[in-house]
Amino acid sequence: MKSVQIQNYGPASELSVENIATPTINADQLLIAVKAAGVNPVDTYIRSGTNNYTTSFPHTPGLDGAGIIDAVGDNIKGFHVGQRVYFSRNLSGSSAEFAIGIPTHTFPLADTLSYEEGACLGIPYTTAHRALLGRANAKTGEKVLVHGATGAVGIATVQLARAMGMEVIASAGTEEGKALLESQGVQTVLDHTQADHLAPYQTLDQGFDVIIEMLANHNLDQDLKALAFGGRVAVVGNRGTVEINPRDLMARDAAVMGVALANIKPAELSLIAKSLYPLLNGGLLKPVVRKTYSLEETSQAHEDVLKSGAQGNLIIKID
Ligand code: NAP
Repeated sequence: MKSVQIQNYGPASELSVENIATPTINADQLLIAVKAAGVNPVDTYIRSGTNNYTTSFPHTPGLDGAGIIDAVGDNIKGFHVGQRVYFSRNLSGSSAEFAIGIPTHTFPLADTLSYEEGACLGIPYTTAHRALLGRANAKTGEKVLVHGATGAVGIATVQLARAMGMEVIASAGTEEGKALLESQGVQTVLDHTQADHLAPYQTLDQGFDVIIEMLANHNLDQDLKALAFGGRVAVVGNRGTVEINPRDLMARDAAVMGVALANIKPAELSLIAKSLYPLLNGGLLKPVVRKTYSLEETSQAHEDVLKSGAQGNLIIKID
């Protein structure tokens, strides 16, 4: 089969497509014919060995994907050959024609979604659900800022918060990103490249109940000043350090919580997948595929996912 590989930690340019043996599975695994692979920032961290990620080599990138079950291990119940699925982790890398699936991280793909859309779900939608509902405990009617809303997790969070009846304010870094968020039904879009973009919200009356934060090292200090009483910031993304004044938290009985999808337990993952399914099938949640790449273009996708000017998910389409 065709598989993208890298031989050691390194830049995206060192990814190449190789012909390797199709993986074999044991009795507790699934073999999935991958139709589309999600490209997430974490794939680049693993490939380059940054942010404390490690892997073994040769390494095939890609945690997320969607496809068709090709074989089911003897110990596994609840899956069948030919079933359409998506997954949020796998054992061999999704940038390949086949991947070894883990039953606890593989879920039925709603009929209304293409494989490309299915490949947007694993990390982005699960993280959005866990951050917004599981960690920040956001409720219907609350005022939510999705700080960095144009990317994969941000759009998923916007859609989920709107589906739950929250008041959603979101931020973008480009005009195109702003237009995308408006097309998603967000009435107030802030420009996170402007230093004072949170100023109108930095009173207790105007503050947010919840902020879902995609770049905490840039924003956390100002986020804390933009919280309502009892407000919560869920840190999803962070690429550095930041200085805060804890008095901003004390003044509001506020809280900051971290979110790491890697910490999720199978039971929570399963609950999230079950609650996402009807929303996806009913069209309340609809992934935004910005661009598709071939396996040969995986290195370009790894470059692009770290660029500013996000407008949805990047996907590798596998024929
Ligand atoms: P993505 O698709 O690359 O999107 C990145 C987002 O960050 C874009 O919306 C971008 O907006 C925004 N951004 C850029 N500068 C910003 C700023 N100054 N303030 C606020 N937002 C800013 O990435 P993603 O998949 O959505 O992931 C977002 C972050 O969360 C990444 O750092 C990723 O590693 C992390 N993440 C964490 C978890 C977890 O479990 N904790 C899970 C998934 C992802 P513009 O491009 O419009 O400027």
